[in-house]
Amino acid sequence: MKKEAKKYVDGYKAFLTEAKTERRAYAAAVRLLEKAGFRELKGAKRLKAGDKVWRGYHGKTLFAAVIGREGTSAGVRVVGGHTDAPRLDLKPKPLYEKGDITFFDTHMYGGIKKYQWLVLPLALYGTVAKKDGTRVEVSIGDAPSDPVFMISDILPHFGKEQLDKKVKDAVAAEDMDVIAGLGKIEDLLKDKYGIEKDDLLSAELEIVPAGAPRDVGLDRALVAAYGHDDRVCAYAGLAALIDVAGAKGAPARTCAVVLCDKEEIGSVGASGMDSSFFENSIAELIDHEGGNARDIDVRRALEASQMLSADVCAASDPHFPDADSTGNESRLGKGPCMIKYTGPAAKSGANDARAEFIAALRRILDDAGVTWQMGELGRAEKGGGGTIAKFMARFGMDVIDFGTPLLNMHAPWELASAEDCWNTNRAYRAFFEASAAALKID
Ligand code: MN
Ligand code: MN
Repeated sequence: MKKEAKKYVDGYKAFLTEAKTERRAYAAAVRLLEKAGFRELKGAKRLKAGDKVWRGYHGKTLFAAVIGREGTSAGVRVVGGHTDAPRLDLKPKPLYEKGDITFFDTHMYGGIKKYQWLVLPLALYGTVAKKDGTRVEVSIGDAPSDPVFMISDILPHFGKEQLDKKVKDAVAAEDMDVIAGLGKIEDLLKDKYGIEKDDLLSAELEIVPAGAPRDVGLDRALVAAYGHDDRVCAYAGLAALIDVAGAKGAPARTCAVVLCDKEEIGSVGASGMDSSFFENSIAELIDHEGGNARDIDVRRALEASQMLSADVCAASDPHFPDADSTGNESRLGKGPCMIKYTGPAAKSGANDARAEFIAALRRILDDAGVTWQMGELGRAEKGGGGTIAKFMARFGMDVIDFGTPLLNMHAPWELASAEDCWNTNRAYRAFFEASAAALKID
């Protein structure tokens, strides 16, 4: 692997190690932005070309931009990824005792294959909001001296009945409960963390796999990590924006990233992309640039924008050829994959990017020497999935899904090609840096 690629991937792995939840991804991203000279938009003075700002929402969804020479009303180049990942959330009243064991009762977040989450070291992260307005940040399971947590499974000697079930029924969602200890742990929570049992009513606590990313294979060509979906694309966009910010001179168009929450459960809620967060962020930029931010100005800017929906796709797995779209599957090591449309069959529910936009992207990616590929999400009628693309396409802008291929997506440990991670970053950077003429569509 090229030295430059290795350096990039090392930075990505460090980010992933920090960013085990959407809130932590937000905090880690803000730290990187601030280090690169970005300032919070709230309270900023009048913006001009080259200025670097960020704004956030609920500590979960983040928007950052470098103001372009033509101003934000001319339209924005956006790379949008999500930082939430499938996991198990603690219920509002999570603690219960059964037999000799104390458990955390959990509720699934995002699409998981339940059996994959059994008998693994797990970590507990999150925020407890107390009645007095203070917050307690919880992070247990990743420091070497920390304990971890685990969901137990039946031993094979007595597992015949379970083994005869359909895989999806082998463990019930309501049984995906995590061992919290033997005996009462309420006192421990109070003494060590200052958390009363009732404080758990106003908490967001997440169970995620414990452990840092690891290289995989003798050639170290792959990276195993929790949360590649979609921190691999979110980080690639963030790093590309930071590069643009550090380059000489302001970019032609305003360049922006959005690192959003709630994609895995349909982009709903205030911090999901079905909210007004993105429009509001564009309106804020125009307003801070000294424009009126009239409704029509914001609409025009949104309509003139272009977006890469930065989300992962399913890499072809030779052991599961039935999931492949024959000849159109995305392949590991061939770079980020452009997905013109998703939709389980007959393109239902898909954002179907227009050919002219793809042609413009081909032009800039090939000129920049980026390794990339074109594909479909998977075989028709076999399943499917969605991204944030359709929520952005609603504004009339050109959007296409374009992200890193993964093996075993949504598993506790997902696999990505290290070179693909790097080329994803290079692709987003080429998009940001392209001249207005290169991305002009007549
Ligand atoms: Mn995703
Ligand atoms: Mn996903």
